[in-house]
Amino acid sequence: MMYDLFIIGGGINGCGIARDAAGRGLKVILVEQGDLASGTSSASTKLIHGGLRYLEHYEFRLVREALIEREVLLKSAPHIIWPLRFVLPHHRGLRPRPLIRLGLFLYDHLGGRKILPPTRSVDLRKDVTGEPLREEFVRGYEYSDCWVEDARLVVLNAMDAKTRGAEIRTRTKCTSAARVAGGWNLTISPKGRKDEVVQAKVLVNAAGPWVGDVLSSVVRQNESAKVRMVKGSHIVVDRLYDHDRCYIFQNADGRICFAIPYEQNFTLIGTTDEDHKGDPGNPQISDSEIEYLLSATSEYLKKSVTRSQVRWTYSGIRPLYDDGASKAQEATRDYVLKLDGSTGEAPMLSVFGGKITTFRKLAESVMEKIGPFFPQAGKPWTAQASLPGGDFAYDKVDTLIAELQRKYSFLKPANVARIFRAYGTDAERMFDGARFSKDMGQFFGPLSEREIDYLKDEEWVREADDILWRRSKLGLHLSADEQAALRGFMRPVAEAKRSKRAKG
Ligand code: FAD
Repeated sequence: MMYDLFIIGGGINGCGIARDAAGRGLKVILVEQGDLASGTSSASTKLIHGGLRYLEHYEFRLVREALIEREVLLKSAPHIIWPLRFVLPHHRGLRPRPLIRLGLFLYDHLGGRKILPPTRSVDLRKDVTGEPLREEFVRGYEYSDCWVEDARLVVLNAMDAKTRGAEIRTRTKCTSAARVAGGWNLTISPKGRKDEVVQAKVLVNAAGPWVGDVLSSVVRQNESAKVRMVKGSHIVVDRLYDHDRCYIFQNADGRICFAIPYEQNFTLIGTTDEDHKGDPGNPQISDSEIEYLLSATSEYLKKSVTRSQVRWTYSGIRPLYDDGASKAQEATRDYVLKLDGSTGEAPMLSVFGGKITTFRKLAESVMEKIGPFFPQAGKPWTAQASLPGGDFAYDKVDTLIAELQRKYSFLKPANVARIFRAYGTDAERMFDGARFSKDMGQFFGPLSEREIDYLKDEEWVREADDILWRRSKLGLHLSADEQAALRGFMRPVAEAKRSKRAKG
């Protein structure tokens, strides 16, 4: 079969493009070498944000587009996206107050804000958000952005793409791409199985930090790719304060750091910006990054944050377009799409950069670029569409959680709330007919066998880590014994699949 689009990369950009294209009637196949969102798209700060700091770099196009996307995305997936308030304490030695006020004024007005509350100034001597802060911080500003479960956003896009006819192949690497008459011959290598060759009219390289690697080793182009890999790391520490607001701290080096309430018991702190060379797989936080994040936060807090409070860390590589900026933190965060192929040659489109926040608009821009090759393709449609489980009003989350808690009172209310937050209106599918806790099968902490089955059937889960660190963050909550039991439970499934494949 000849596919219309062959997409390399199951991160937010690849999955967003697959969903948009499949919804317009194109025949789409997407390959991901690991698990969905196993690259950068599970390692972000998890903000759907305009990017206040990008205003300083005059990235008005990007900020405006991203600000508008906040509410579009909030409405499309209100189970995994929700409003947050950020407090920016004024630091006397850093940006002057008029500059901050101007930035926040633009932030409030550039992007068609209708749902999210506006900026307000805060007297930190009286407001609860001043309590954890040192006494010298007396004035601050509070503004809106949104939270997103980044890895779940990727999976929901993949699920929607599949429902609309796309083929999603995880643990399948694209190893070679060759132009032939009328399209591409693509060799794919599914883990533990024989290579296959498929044909497609257009190739989309959405390999994130591997975008250059795909160009050189898969497509075998000689030209060096204009990608700048910039590592960013986060630390997760024991909860630092009790209120629900986030902080945006300005650092003396001109950067900013966020402190965000995370997974009930923790505070997420990030991020850093360091140029990265070599393999983008499995990046690790360095000692100096940990120190940087601890000291940037401690500068503001009455009680310093120490290494002993660090419970988890993660790092990701930003696949930025190399615009020649001298510092990593100044490289553009906007996306750049490069269409390659002269007249008569099969086209290839490569994606550089792109925020989680702008994935939907990026996918629309991709469709516009490749539109001339598919005159039969439908029109843009994703702005009004909900993602799987997100077909309800954004302000009804609490009501729906309460209903589900009443209906499934054999589970702890906090667990039902977690399940709704993950699956939205699809949560009911895993309860189907269950009346007692035992109907849900074996439990690993709050995770039931029913949920695991759902994740395997619907969300491409194969291994314990897919659940612990991407479909959820249960890795932070399950004890070592519970995690070991889950690994033991999942192993036979992975092994049975392998031996079945080997036999047949
Ligand atoms: P990826 O998610 O890396 O996906 C590319 C995929 O391609 C990978 O999964 C990889 O395995 C696969 N692949 C590569 N080669 C092959 C091959 N040959 N065959 C098959 N598959 C292949 N954005 C925001 O909007 N908000 C934020 O708060 C935010 N914070 C961030 C913080 C940090 C520290 C970082 C690093 C980024 C942050 N971003 C944020 C940006 C955002 O996370 C990234 O821009 C985005 O996730 C990139 O997605 P992607 O799909 O392009 O790449």
